[in-house]
Amino acid sequence: MRAPLVDGFGRVHTDLRLSLTDRCNLRCTYCMPAEGLDWLPRPELLTDDELVRVVGLLAELGVRTVRLTGGEPLLRPGVVGLVERLARLDLSLSLTTNGLSLARMAPALRDAGLRRVNVSMDTLRPERFVELTRRDRLHDVLTGLAAAKAAGLEPVKVNAVLMRGINDDEAGDLLQWALDEGYALRFIEQMPLDPQHGWDRSTMLDADEILGRLGERWSLTPVEVRGSAPAEEFLVDGGPATVGVVGSVSRPFCAACDRLRLTADGQVRNCLFAREESDLRGPLRSGASDDELAERLRVAVAGKKQGHGIGEPGFVQPDRPMSAIGG
Ligand code: SAM
Ligand code: SF4
Repeated sequence: MRAPLVDGFGRVHTDLRLSLTDRCNLRCTYCMPAEGLDWLPRPELLTDDELVRVVGLLAELGVRTVRLTGGEPLLRPGVVGLVERLARLDLSLSLTTNGLSLARMAPALRDAGLRRVNVSMDTLRPERFVELTRRDRLHDVLTGLAAAKAAGLEPVKVNAVLMRGINDDEAGDLLQWALDEGYALRFIEQMPLDPQHGWDRSTMLDADEILGRLGERWSLTPVEVRGSAPAEEFLVDGGPATVGVVGSVSRPFCAACDRLRLTADGQVRNCLFAREESDLRGPLRSGASDDELAERLRVAVAGKKQGHGIGEPGFVQPDRPMSAIGG
């Protein structure tokens, strides 16, 4: 075991967001333009061997949880084999997906060693799903969710982003549906990570507003286990069901952040909103030793800023959109 990854504010980094691809088969309006983006050229993506090496090294550096994301991680060729290799490391492995491929892949993913999934779904209305994602695939998401539950990828979590005038009238419907289906729902505040750089705080529903709306139908009791977890959890009508709210913008959890990110092209980011990245792919491909890679990771983490600074005068949105960072 190596010394843990600690930043200048004493935050120990134990959680990795690993992006497997920047490509996606949806075009969520707040995440990607209709025409998609300039996808990373295949040779620039870390290979499975490179990913397994880096994640193994991070495990030695104290990383305990790894969440696979993207883009749409299930679009990565050979993803089941990669999951199988990563699952052999001593880590808790989970996946964030739009759910489209789960109906087909959930049993194989479970067999490969995946234990949990988060599925992103912002509306229960088919026409609205088309408006929001520019694809007519709500049915596939719902089927994928059911397949994940049937495969035992539990708890199945559902992430939803609410936007004023677009889907904010569905806060209660989404929760009632999640309670009925036995999914753990979490609402996420919309963040300034869209490729159009058109984020506007006034269209975002903040945590207070979301909780206010849910509070009209259910009694919500805070669960005191937040720690470094970004979601604040609430018992719904006394439990056992819960609902979560991730107030990244209005209730930032930077002080307890234990997370680092690796983009699909091998760049280490110490924050979603970081404007600097540290290249790991170059050293990986030019024969760097584990000690040298560990030093790079250490320096990347050490340089982390205290907070994301959204709303502060000097805030500038990162160049990479969410889908290319790994949400
Ligand atoms: N494609 C997968 C999915 O949709 O779950 C994984 C990647 S996606 C970028 C991860 C999560 O980021 C999704 O839950 C999505 O809703 C969320 N997301 C994307 N852009 C966002 C933004 N600007 N603000 C808040 N969440 C965002
Ligand atoms: Fe794709 Fe996920 Fe972005 Fe939607 S949120 S466009 S599913 S990467």
